Amino acid sequence: MATDYAEIAKDVSALKAPPNLADYADLRSSWNWDEIWAELDTPDGLVNQGHECIDRHATGARANKLAMIWQSQDLAVEEYTFADLKRETDRAANALRSVGIEKGDRVFFLSDRIPELYFAFFGALKLGALAAPLFSAFGPEPIAERVGRADGKAMVTTPKLLSKVDAIRDDLPSLETVIIMDGREEHELADRDISWSALIADASDDFEIEKTGSEDWSVMHFTSGTTGLPKGAAHVHNTVVSHYATGKYVMDFQEEDIYWCTADPGWVTGTSYGMFAPWSNGVTQVIDEGGFGARRWYETITRFKVTVWYTAPTAIRLLMRSGADTAREHDLSSLRYVMSVGEPLNPEGVVWGLDAFDLPIHDNWWQTETGAIMIANYPSMPIRPGSMGRPFPGIHAAIIDDEGNEMTEPMAEGQLAVRPGWPSMFRTYWNDQERYDSRFQMGWYLTGDKAKRDADGYFWFVGRDDDVINTAGHLVSPFEVESALIEHEAVAEAGVIGKPDDLAMEVVKAFVTLNEGREETRELMRDLNRHCRERLGPAVAPREIQVIEILPKTRSGKIMRRLLKARELGLPEGDTSTLEDD
Ligand code: AMP
Repeated sequence: MATDYAEIAKDVSALKAPPNLADYADLRSSWNWDEIWAELDTPDGLVNQGHECIDRHATGARANKLAMIWQSQDLAVEEYTFADLKRETDRAANALRSVGIEKGDRVFFLSDRIPELYFAFFGALKLGALAAPLFSAFGPEPIAERVGRADGKAMVTTPKLLSKVDAIRDDLPSLETVIIMDGREEHELADRDISWSALIADASDDFEIEKTGSEDWSVMHFTSGTTGLPKGAAHVHNTVVSHYATGKYVMDFQEEDIYWCTADPGWVTGTSYGMFAPWSNGVTQVIDEGGFGARRWYETITRFKVTVWYTAPTAIRLLMRSGADTAREHDLSSLRYVMSVGEPLNPEGVVWGLDAFDLPIHDNWWQTETGAIMIANYPSMPIRPGSMGRPFPGIHAAIIDDEGNEMTEPMAEGQLAVRPGWPSMFRTYWNDQERYDSRFQMGWYLTGDKAKRDADGYFWFVGRDDDVINTAGHLVSPFEVESALIEHEAVAEAGVIGKPDDLAMEVVKAFVTLNEGREETRELMRDLNRHCRERLGPAVAPREIQVIEILPKTRSGKIMRRLLKARELGLPEGDTSTLEDD
């Protein structure tokens, strides 16, 4: 597709305020992380994400400013100022402390997007606990795997989701405490459970934040790798420095903005940019309990006069399906800036933004491990549709070859790598330091993505360098799905791939071989699908399961997922010299 840069650049003028990042080259050359640190409030060098995002705004000019506008599933609205958030999160911290949660404990969250989730989450951070959110569409198995991996001490959940926790809690010796956020639904409390409402009713709203330093643990998100089960990427309170900086210069936050991030806190975008970036900048944000719906989303923008909007390519493709006319039926004139992340944003998506919103969509790139945006299209810079943009000032990203040399030739394809040391860099994979260390080689953090860089320093995504599946912006480990499949009594072996999909980029497809004496029947396939959905939940379960005679394997017995994928797509099978003889 021929790119009309001028056409795209013109729309940058639609920004109603002068951008915080006025001159990319200038800011990049003068960048100093210490100056960003100085813009935060870090008494005696202590830093706590709860203080930076809430308490420091809760007195003075922003005390009565709206921090959270919450829209429930059935469209009721609740509003909370920064002062309200301080009170509620202080209470939550006291409530968690009253049940024995201490600094360093791992506290898991399994909840839909309700205000109490945000209160409890920040309460845990204020207490110095490590807050680990899980996606509410996970089934019991992904939950057990993650809690077990991190020796989770407490789980904060809702009545609706409790059965998933009950299904696995007896197998998790570390999980001492299950707290039910029971204020919004009728719930009969079991003896072993703790009522959040009761805890809160007894909790004081006076709390002194735990003295956390920049290297103290704060948040853990689980992410998928090439081999093995998902790993807990753990972050520290210092991460907020990157959240604040990218909020200011990529999201271009202005004091009057009404911001909306559509991501769920079960994924890193929903915490880094659905909590920390807006609130560390003192910005009002909308949180919608409901899921995707083109009209619902447009009405949400209209209703709350959203100005800055952060969403994902799959959502944009869904909106595209519903047509630019649907967008145009709504008054979306409040919008001044739209961004997306999580998967490649096709050039058509960028340009469609012009049709639908009179604004191009700004793509940016980062990962769970990087904690914050690394590469972005900025409001003051012409967009090259299809490109992820240029590295954030203060970030040295590069395309490297197998020896770790920077490939400076324009559009040479190589590994996307980042020089370690930025504030939001993850600090370990929980209980798996070896795997963590393997991500740092030759002086680089290896992202696991392949990319190219053009002559002007714009980065272009090529693909992942491993078998991890990206479905609607969420990474899925093939290993995790294979493990669940082979637990089914009829399945002998399983190989799982990402099958390209117009909407979700990839969907999970499983190939299985059956045990002797088992046959592929309609009932068996139904049972297999049910088994996967029950154990893994809809976020991870395969969309398609296909029975085959033999799974291609290397001589050492490793399933060749790449070959399965090539066969599925009718592509050349490539080098099969390591293939096991059948
Ligand atoms: P996660 O750790 O779940 O946030 O996933 C990170 C991965 O998603 C990256 O390593 C990429 O493979 C993919 N990704 C994220 N943002 C983009 C983007 N803007 N363009 C292409 N791929 C992306």
